[in-house]
Amino acid sequence: MNSSSQATRIVVTGGAGYIGSHVVLALGEAGYDVLTYDNLSTGNRDAILSGELVVGDLADKDLLVKTLTEFKPAAVMHFAASIEVGESVVDPLKYYRNNSVNALNLLEALRVTGTGQMIFSSTAAVYGNPAQLPVTENTPLQPINPYGASKMMTERFLDDLAQANADFRYVALRYFNVAGADPETRLGQDYANPTHLITRALKTALGVFSRLQVFGTDYPTQDGTCIRDYIHVADLAQAHLDALRYLSTGAQSAVFNCGYGHGFSVRDVVAMAKEVTGIDFPVVETGRREGDPAELVAGCEKIHRELGWQPRFDDLKVILRTAWDWEKKLVARGG
Ligand code: UDP
Repeated sequence: MNSSSQATRIVVTGGAGYIGSHVVLALGEAGYDVLTYDNLSTGNRDAILSGELVVGDLADKDLLVKTLTEFKPAAVMHFAASIEVGESVVDPLKYYRNNSVNALNLLEALRVTGTGQMIFSSTAAVYGNPAQLPVTENTPLQPINPYGASKMMTERFLDDLAQANADFRYVALRYFNVAGADPETRLGQDYANPTHLITRALKTALGVFSRLQVFGTDYPTQDGTCIRDYIHVADLAQAHLDALRYLSTGAQSAVFNCGYGHGFSVRDVVAMAKEVTGIDFPVVETGRREGDPAELVAGCEKIHRELGWQPRFDDLKVILRTAWDWEKKLVARGG
């Protein structure tokens, strides 16, 4: 951060994953000293482009306490989680274990070691099917799938903990639909079995999948497909740095939506994926996927106002182009 004093230390759980790795890179570039704590169950060692790695599980409280005791971070950023809505409906206990119980372990480790700040990866899925759009942070939390419920519980843990302890503060960032890749193509999404729309569409263009399924065309939206607020991963990474700075000023705990405030339908995304790739890949319309709300668009005034967040990639085409560059790089790498 500055050359005369020691860099601020940050522990990042899930730093080997898609969003975590972009944040680790951004932290490194901003001069922070980073330690990634990751069990590498879905993340990749190669995606950690700054700092050190401890291979560990959030279920291992002793290792968490040891890591925090030795590294002495100013804050922990907590990304490590299970993230698929559809899977959470089929296997809810996995989500409550990984996203709620393991978060509780981490919070207990923070308390034992006196670590006073946390930035938590929450989700727009905590809102469920909101009655009013765009959704503000004050919209009631009514998740409609175990994924959203598991994240809502952890928000509750954080809130209660902060109420009870003046020496603990947190920021929860409620992500809308994160997509895109590092604009310099150093990083991107690299999961063995991706389920998210943009990655599925681009991998279909590459022939990895034979066709893209559109899950539901009878939603109460303009073209019948679901609407989401897609946010570029590099802008989301910046929001984390802004949140860190916010906490470092002594500001109170807070929750922020992370989105751009406008949505695109599944059909919009498919059309843009075809335009960006120049490939007319096969698309089939199928039934609804369980657990999907019709429309989620962020009210994002608060993050602009209180964190001073200034997104740079608010453009669906840029999101798809950076993701496409990354997918082509993966192919070139043989991955
Ligand atoms: N979707 C789709 N086909 C796919 C993957 C996703 O039609 O292969 C739809 C999904 O039903 C939802 C939207 O795309 O309406 C965004 O889904 P995604 O899984 O990318 O993110 P989520 O909103 O579930 O976090």
